Amino acid sequence: LPVKGFSVKTDVISLLTDLVSIDSSNPGVGERNVAEYLASVCRDLGFETRILEAAPGRSNLLVSADAGSGSGVLGLSGHLDTKPVGDAENAWRTPPLDLTVQEGRAYGLGTSDMKGGIAAMVAATERWAARATEGRIELIFTADEEAGGALGARWLADQSLISADAIVIGEPSGVVDAWEAIYTVSRGMCCFDIVVEGVQGHSGLSDQLPMSATVAAAKVVSALHELNPSFSDAPDDAWKPTVNSAVLLEGGVFYGVHPGHARIGCDIRLVPGMSPHRLESEIRSCVESSLPEEIGWRLEYPIPALRWVDPVAVPNDHPVLSAASAAATKVLERDLHFRAYPGGTDATSFFLGAGIPSVASLGPGWLSVAHGPNECVDLGDVVLAVDLYAELIAQYFG
Ligand SMILES: [Zn+2]
Repeated sequence: LPVKGFSVKTDVISLLTDLVSIDSSNPGVGERNVAEYLASVCRDLGFETRILEAAPGRSNLLVSADAGSGSGVLGLSGHLDTKPVGDAENAWRTPPLDLTVQEGRAYGLGTSDMKGGIAAMVAATERWAARATEGRIELIFTADEEAGGALGARWLADQSLISADAIVIGEPSGVVDAWEAIYTVSRGMCCFDIVVEGVQGHSGLSDQLPMSATVAAAKVVSALHELNPSFSDAPDDAWKPTVNSAVLLEGGVFYGVHPGHARIGCDIRLVPGMSPHRLESEIRSCVESSLPEEIGWRLEYPIPALRWVDPVAVPNDHPVLSAASAAATKVLERDLHFRAYPGGTDATSFFLGAGIPSVASLGPGWLSVAHGPNECVDLGDVVLAVDLYAELIAQYFG
């Protein structure tokens, strides 16, 4: 394996350096090399490891650090894959797979999303295991998160391969600043199309024809853009749905043709307290009121699996949140609020597939630098993450 010699009990930055140097881009080479490397590190630390693949090369790694039964199992989780460098190669100022430190920041592919969190979890588990007398940590390092997790978290959950009672995912908790919140809510998703049907004809007669389907579609797009779906249960204004009208848009035939057909693809990111029935009726009345009567339209769900993905939330009084809050207060010297995570994570699969309450994000780094060139993480935050996870584990097993 192309690694540079992380030796056990070395610092977390050496481990991060090695993890970044092993390409695990998705789509790309897959996760097997990085999983095998991490497994060997964890075996050297005395932990049990299992590599599990839903498809060849797409490795998930489960690590068990067992200090004695009776206190339950706490899961710490991160995804092994990264987005590919893609078209941004020329925009990188440093080699993406060669961790480069400049002014306290470590640059490299996957530093924030999320090999920094993974390195910190391994180091924190090592520190805990050296002195623990009870409890079990399960490290759940997944494949395929960047493509939806069908070969990773979703598969592990569906196959009942995870034994944790609760899970903390180390996705980056910063957008602008590091450690902005503890992200307890994973938003769900409702994806649908509005199909608009008018009358195709000669564009020179457009003033005598029904409204063109594409103009009608534009009216629908701006109406949905202003839609505020109703929801209940929000503890404060920290979470709300987002409406993305027209993530897809098609229609029209050619110059000279008055368009008779258009299709708009929309996605709404859901929060707890929304229902499919109520949301659909709000969408229908929004579309209805935006269009003249002569225009026909229908609502379709072209991808059944994305018709409704439930939002999930860890209850505010769950022991894993008490432990996370206490650890943040002590280590970061700040009280963190509970929020809804902007992006999708493996938490949804752990929750919906295996019923395991899962914190979507408590980890070093920034979501705002992920998936683009010059991704980086603050080295101090990676070191802080080791302290934070170690304290969280100690609090959890009390
Ligand atoms: Zn991620």
